[in-house]
Amino acid sequence: MAYVITKLCLNCKDLACTLVCPVDCIYEYKGDDESIPKEMVLIDPDECIDCNACVPECPWEAIFEEEMVPDVFKDDIELNARIVDKEREVPPRPDDIKTPTPDEVKANKEKWGYTE
Ligand code: SF4
Repeated sequence: MAYVITKLCLNCKDLACTLVCPVDCIYEYKGDDESIPKEMVLIDPDECIDCNACVPECPWEAIFEEEMVPDVFKDDIELNARIVDKEREVPPRPDDIKTPTPDEVKANKEKWGYTE
C-alpha cells in the first residue's frame, strides 16, 4: 500500500515532500505523454515505503495513504502508478515557493469538489 499524491498538487507543487522522502520516490514526469501532468509530482508506488514523512510536509494537504484517498481523487491512484519506469526526475525545490494561506488551501479543495 503506497501513498498517493492527488490533484490537489496540480499547479501548486510545493515540493517540500521531495525534501523529506527517504527513498526519493516522488517524481516529476519528464516524458511526452500529455495525459500525465507535469504540473504536479507523483509517487512511485513500487518504491514508496509507506513512511508517512511526506504527508505533514504538504501545505496543500494533497497526499493520502492509498486506502484513504477521497473518492473524488480515486483516479489519482492509477495516475501515480503511471510514473513507474517513465522518464522522470526528483525535482529540485526552489527557495522562493510561498506557503499557501488556509483560505487558498480551502479554495483549492473546493475547486476539485473535495469537502472533508
Ligand atoms: Fe516517500 Fe515516505 Fe511519502 Fe512514500 S510515504 S512518498 S516513502 S515520504
